[in-house]
Amino acid sequence: MRHQLFIDGRFVDAASGETLATLNPHDNTPIVEVAMAGREDIDRAVAAAQRAYPAWSRTAAADRGRILLKLADLIEANAEELARLESLDTGHPLRDSRALDVPRTAACFRYFGGMADKFQGETIPVEAGFLNYTLREPVGVVGQVVPWNFPLMFTSWKMAPALAAGNTIVMKPAEITPLTSLKIAELMAHAGMPAGVVNVVPGLGNVAGQTIAEHEGIAKVAFTGSTATGRRVVQASAGNLKKVQLELGGKGANIVFDDANLAAAVNGSAWAIFHNQGQACIAGSRLVLHERIADAFLEKFIALARSIKLGNPLDATTEMGPLTSRQHRDRVLGYVDVARDQGGQVLCGGKPPADPSLAAGCYVEPTVVRTRDFRDRVAQEEVFGPFVTVMTFKDDDEALQIANGTDYGLGGGLWTRDLQRAHRIAREMKSGMVWINSYKRVNPGSPFGGVGQSGYGREMGFDAMREYTQVKSVWVNVDAQIPPWYSR
Ligand code: NAD
Repeated sequence: MRHQLFIDGRFVDAASGETLATLNPHDNTPIVEVAMAGREDIDRAVAAAQRAYPAWSRTAAADRGRILLKLADLIEANAEELARLESLDTGHPLRDSRALDVPRTAACFRYFGGMADKFQGETIPVEAGFLNYTLREPVGVVGQVVPWNFPLMFTSWKMAPALAAGNTIVMKPAEITPLTSLKIAELMAHAGMPAGVVNVVPGLGNVAGQTIAEHEGIAKVAFTGSTATGRRVVQASAGNLKKVQLELGGKGANIVFDDANLAAAVNGSAWAIFHNQGQACIAGSRLVLHERIADAFLEKFIALARSIKLGNPLDATTEMGPLTSRQHRDRVLGYVDVARDQGGQVLCGGKPPADPSLAAGCYVEPTVVRTRDFRDRVAQEEVFGPFVTVMTFKDDDEALQIANGTDYGLGGGLWTRDLQRAHRIAREMKSGMVWINSYKRVNPGSPFGGVGQSGYGREMGFDAMREYTQVKSVWVNVDAQIPPWYSR
């Protein structure tokens, strides 16, 4: 397991020699000490990325793609190690890491490996005699800052399109979950990535992250994290007017209409909130139920929530692991008090599990809270845990009022058998993504991102390639007859 900084193609200690322990959230025991990047290390990483940029950006697109395709193969060849590392570091149940995180990571690198030589400029029909065409050029050195909830997958979401487009990278994983990003760096080297193209520098947000956001040598910063930090990144980026891409928080509304297939809606809604212990920006954290089916839905939903098997993430039968840090667990439990203070009713969970074998870990039971009003704090603020609020509605307008009644706008879902209603509500929802009769689907080809306080810019698909390139318009006078502007 590598636990140093990856700069200029080599694993190295931090200039200061400082390290930070990463903990196993199952029992809070240290896994390993990881080198902690400071300003000097970020400077070194940026310098390496700047040196690597001219050659990498001019490498044939197909050759860039080939390295990403090779990396995808290596990820699959190392799947079990990556899955275990992710589960150990984050608390993702092993069955999730094996079935979702690792295959999605490989799929993302493969998709953008294939995309590298298919993303192209245009020729534009301008006035006679001129050829006008566009070049999609890489931006330069890109700083990428990712959170701790899906560290492996987000490493691929950020790195793959940036590299396919010809940029070089300085990436900072979250300080508490650096291990799989470092493993990807190691595999990159085996895949033939030239030194300096990818640099991975774990470190504290307010030091390493802030330095990346401010750095004059970085042309773009792509940030995934909380809305509050996103705002700081925008401010820090102003010095050299970096391009900024923000994937921020969410408070997904999951609307169940009275004509929905209830069994599918119950199961899909449980997945929407309890997968990854609710630590997902797109989690369906607000259940919005038609009043006619609310009781029947809740009876089944709560029974399912109570039956979810909590346990050590490395046990392949575990369905729900611990939250990723103790600090975060305490924050989530704090919201149970906030809910009660505002007259909310805790219908299940709201506490750590009684099982003594889980007592040292960051576990929280699946929690369902009925709120009095959609403006209550727990129905507005992102809890980011296995914590779902329940509200009821009488008609479509009220459902939309509740769904759109937050400052966020990332993902949302709806369950109905009525085709027209499905499309109408999808159109009216204030969010970057809508799932109809499902929830939380992602695919490397489908744009991912939010509106409002959930940020701007898109990951995945052609949109991601647009984000990681800039357009140059080239005008050629082929045989235009231009009368002299000045007659003399
Ligand atoms: P966070 O904002 O605390 O941290 C995210 C990253 O930013 C970490 O790497 C952190 O070290 C770094 N950071 C902290 N301070 C910084 C600063 N001043 N300058 C630059 N970087 C800094 O978020 P978190 O608690 O790690 O993650 C959870 C949040 O991420 C939630 O709000 C969640 O919704 C959001 N998220 C959004 C998406 C999305 O795609 N929209 C995906 C996953 C998570």
